[in-house]
Amino acid sequence: MRQEFTRSAAWRRRKLQWVEEELSWYFAPQIRCVGGCQRAWSLASGDLHLCSYDSLGAEAHDDLIPLCVSCHTDLHMIMERDVRLRQMDLRDASFSALAMIQSTPKSLKRPN
Ligand SMILES: [Zn+2]
Ligand SMILES: [Zn+2]
Repeated sequence: MRQEFTRSAAWRRRKLQWVEEELSWYFAPQIRCVGGCQRAWSLASGDLHLCSYDSLGAEAHDDLIPLCVSCHTDLHMIMERDVRLRQMDLRDASFSALAMIQSTPKSLKRPN
């Protein structure tokens, strides 16, 4: 079900809208991966991690997190492996896992 949603037109629209919001609200010339690697991020090259599946297609801006594919993979790996995170709701687990990958030394990260 989640898989179907992420491929849906509503999700595609929300992603495009999110990018517009991010660029216009924060006047950022370039969106970057927030996973700690600081790689330049775009819809084409990166992912948007969803912190909530409650409002499909109308997610709050802050419930979408721009991550490169490598950091996104790390995030999900941590969320799956960490027993403590598995007991949290998706948003809390996401931000806890995000804090962990942000503090991971870059040298330990796989090259993209
Ligand atoms: Zn994700
Ligand atoms: Zn990254």
